[in-house]
Amino acid sequence: MDNLDHRQRPDSVNLSRDALQVPHVTADGREDNAAEWVAALLRTSGPARKALYMSADRVRRERMGDGVFLRGIVEFSNICGRDCHYCGIRSSNRDVRRYRMDADEILAVAKNMVGWKQTTIVLQSGEAASPEGDRRLGDLIRRIKAETDLSVTMSVGNRPRDVYSHWRDCGMDRYLLRFETSDPALFAQIHPACTLGERLECLHILRSLGVQVGSGFMIGVPANILLCRNLDLDMIGIGPFIPHPCTPLGKTANAYAADPEMHFVALAALRLANPDAHIPATTAFDAVFTNPSGRDLALQRGANVFMPNSTPGQYRKDYMLYPDKPCVDENGALCAFCIVGRLEMLGRQIGTGPGHSRKRGDRGVPASPIAPAAAGSGRP
Ligand code: SAM
Repeated sequence: MDNLDHRQRPDSVNLSRDALQVPHVTADGREDNAAEWVAALLRTSGPARKALYMSADRVRRERMGDGVFLRGIVEFSNICGRDCHYCGIRSSNRDVRRYRMDADEILAVAKNMVGWKQTTIVLQSGEAASPEGDRRLGDLIRRIKAETDLSVTMSVGNRPRDVYSHWRDCGMDRYLLRFETSDPALFAQIHPACTLGERLECLHILRSLGVQVGSGFMIGVPANILLCRNLDLDMIGIGPFIPHPCTPLGKTANAYAADPEMHFVALAALRLANPDAHIPATTAFDAVFTNPSGRDLALQRGANVFMPNSTPGQYRKDYMLYPDKPCVDENGALCAFCIVGRLEMLGRQIGTGPGHSRKRGDRGVPASPIAPAAAGSGRP
């Protein structure tokens, strides 16, 4: 297994023996101690955490390079039919002023993004499925592909195969859909009218259509790094769960509130367990860590992608998934400018080219099917 080699060359003797114990690959290709290995990585504490971060940073450099792909996110609508128990734009939050950008407005942002060196547009919204809306999204994807060189990533929730297939035919390159937690019971508890199995089926369909697949979870709601590894994801986004006061989980503290560094331990372990995946420094890291900023630290502890907020300024305060969401007083141009400075300070470059999956080549045919739901194995 080529992608396990890096773990046989530890950066430091400060990591525990268990953390250095790479998964044993059986004759039929199974890894029989991967769970113990990830658990040991997550137990890394005290000064050994620095060694873990260095290890993750080295693997990121060796496998993904120093370029940081900029994927501008456009939060084009906060209209949502779902009622997820953690999310600030859930349908029953009446304090939200709902909006939807029209296609021309989104296209104008897309054209700006090219000048901002953002090679992917990530179109994100609440989940508001309708035949007419989904058809319009297909038309929008077509226009973006015809009028710009951008790769298109969609992040709009669960849909049936025919809709994903139509969007793929319109030019959609990638899809982001977090599984949020690998614990089926917890998933059902915090996602009314949705199951983990349905979410994983969506990922399976996307993979079978040849779409590059991204998923991930909120750190601090129990979840599973191993599930990311088993799904063999092209992109993995994880970020701290941040309680939003207008949601049922508003008074539920993040499981790592007493040890917030655990968010980086999880990120570093994620990189070691998924050396060839694109891993973004997600926005929520900046809501939890300031000075130095969480996203800058994430880029030094395993992440290789940054998702500048390219949503026009007037909508940002209405897309408050959680409190203290950064950059809500800024606009696309400011965020584009800011990331250039951040990368200079970190000695990193802006990634060039489309930034497609390292695993499947440029829009390549999928190599492996998505595995069925693995049992949850605890935090993060
Ligand atoms: N509706 C689409 C979906 O469900 O995939 C995309 C939009 S959804 C708002 C994007 C992500 O926001 C979710 O996958 C979730 O992980 C994150 N999110 C929502 N509320 C959050 C919170 N309170 N803390 C941290 N992340 C949150």
